[in-house]
This record gives sequence, C-alpha cells and structure tokens, in this order.
Amino acid sequence: MNASTQFDLMTNVQTAAIYAPDSVAAWGDDKQIRAAIEEMGELTAILCRYVRGRVPAEDVHEEIADVLISVTTLLEVFDAEKCMPVMKQKLAKYRGQIDASKQGTP
Ligand SMILES: [Mg+2]
Repeated sequence: MNASTQFDLMTNVQTAAIYAPDSVAAWGDDKQIRAAIEEMGELTAILCRYVRGRVPAEDVHEEIADVLISVTTLLEVFDAEKCMPVMKQKLAKYRGQIDASKQGTP
C-alpha cells in the first residue's frame, strides 16, 4: 500500500468514525452490532470465494469497505477510548512479530 492510499484509508476511516456517533444514535447499539456481524460474515464469505478463484478481487473491495465502516460503529458502541490502548498494545506486538519475521525468527 503506497503512502497516498494509506492517507486515503486513514481519511476514509476517520470520516466513518465521525459518522459513527450519528449512526449509532439513529439505529442503536443492537442494530449496529448485528450489521457489523453481517458485514464481517459477508467479507468472510467473499474471501472464501476469492481464494477458490470464484470471484475477482474487485468483489472483495466492497466488503472490505463495509467492514471498515462497521468497525467504526463497533468502536462507537464499545467505547473507542477503551479500545485504543488495547489496539496500541496489539500494534506494538504486531510490529515486533514483523521485525522478528524479517530477522528469520517467527
Ligand atoms: Mg457488505
């Protein structure tokens, strides 16, 4: 992913996060959770079809977008402020795993 696409990703996810409070206010926690479950299921299903060579990558794009948007609503429902330290910790671990992998120690 190049720097321009990384910027677009951050901008789009930030926009979704800005919309999330209104979305949760409009439809409520339960509906947001159910929608996220549905979107994650759709992504799972399309990825299974993709790895079998039954759909093109373009079909995956829509579901990735849906899941990214849905995750921002989950963050709204489940208190993003409490999720961020967990994410920061996991990203540090992830960075360590990547660095270890580069050095040939999985
Ligand atoms: Mg979808």
